[in-house]
Amino acid sequence: MTQTYQSEAQENNQTGKVESPTVPVLNPEEGYVYFEGRVVPMGEAKISIATHALQYGTACFEGIRGYWNEEHEKLYILKLRAHYERMAHSWNTLMMKPKESVDDLCALTAELVRKHGYRSDVYIRPLAYKASRTIKLTLSSLEDALAIYLFPMGNYVDISAGLNVCTSSWRRASSNAMPVRAKVTGAYINSCLAVDDATAAGFDEAIMLTDDGTVSEGSSCNLFIIRNGKFVTPALSEDILEGITRNALIEMIEKKFGMEVEQRRIDRTELYASDEVFLCGTGVQVSPVTSVDRRRVGTGQPGALTMQLQQAYLAACKGEDPQYSEWVTPVSYA
Ligand code: PMP
Repeated sequence: MTQTYQSEAQENNQTGKVESPTVPVLNPEEGYVYFEGRVVPMGEAKISIATHALQYGTACFEGIRGYWNEEHEKLYILKLRAHYERMAHSWNTLMMKPKESVDDLCALTAELVRKHGYRSDVYIRPLAYKASRTIKLTLSSLEDALAIYLFPMGNYVDISAGLNVCTSSWRRASSNAMPVRAKVTGAYINSCLAVDDATAAGFDEAIMLTDDGTVSEGSSCNLFIIRNGKFVTPALSEDILEGITRNALIEMIEKKFGMEVEQRRIDRTELYASDEVFLCGTGVQVSPVTSVDRRRVGTGQPGALTMQLQQAYLAACKGEDPQYSEWVTPVSYA
C-alpha cells in the first residue's frame, strides 16, 4: 500500500538553501499499528488524555531503520534485535514488564513491515508506555502497553554536504538526573531545546556538552572525531546514549579499516582542532560535520575517511556486504 504524508521543508538560515523534505508528518488514518496486543488500522490506535505516559513522559522508545534494496527486492531491517535488547533495558529502568519478549517483538516487527509492503526505506517506531489513567507520581504498579508503527522515511539530514553544528548552551541531562542509557520519551525535551536553539541560530544540529563541559553527543546521535589518523569518540561515561550505530561503526573501523578507536573525554576545543568530525545514529546515519561553532573542520569539506565509512556503512545497511549480513534482517514480500 502507499501512504500519503506531508513533509516539512526547512529553510536553512545559514546558506539560504531549502533542504530536501525529510521528516514526514503522518496521516493519522493510514497504515497499521501493533497496538495493545493486536494489529489495528492507525486510526484505531488511540489512548486516553489521562494516560500516565502523556502526563509525565513515562514511556520509552526505539528508532529502527529498514533499507529497501531494489535489486534484491528485499527490505533489510537494521540491527533489529540490538534495538529491542536496548529497549528491554529501557523498560527495565522504567519498571515496565511488557508481555512481549525481545523475540516476539523482532517477529512482530518483521510481520508489520511485511503487511505494509513498502518498497522504500522505512523508519520503525516501537513505544512502550505507562498506560494507567492516573496522575500518581510513580513508576511502579502501573499498567504497561506497547505499540509499534512505521512509515516511509529517507535521509533525516543531508548526509553528503556536511553539517554546520554548534555547541549548545543546553547541557546533556546527566546520568544523575536522568537515565541516559534509556531512551525515555520525557528526556527528549532536552534534545528539542538544543535543536530549536541551534536551528534558530542558523545551524543544522547541536552538540551537547556534559555538566563538566566535555563533549557528550548530538541531539539524537553520537559523535566521532578523527585526529592524526585515529578515531575518537566520547566514552560511555560521558552521559551518552549507548548508540547502536556507534557500536556498529567501532566494529567496522577496527575490523574493516584496521584503525584504532579511542573512547575517552573530548574537550569542546578539540572539536575545532580535529581533521574530521562526524555524527552517527539510526536517523542521521553517518553525517559529516564541516564546521563547529562557525570554525571550519579540517578542509571545510566532508572528510575523506568519514565518506569512506559512510559508504561502507550504507552498503552493510542495504544487505550488500556479506561481512555484515548479521546486522540486517531481510524481509521479502513475495
Ligand atoms: N543519542 C541519542 C540521544 C539518540 O536519541 C540516538 C538515537 N537513538 C543516538 C544517540 C544514536 O543511537 P542509535 O545509533 O542507536 O540510533
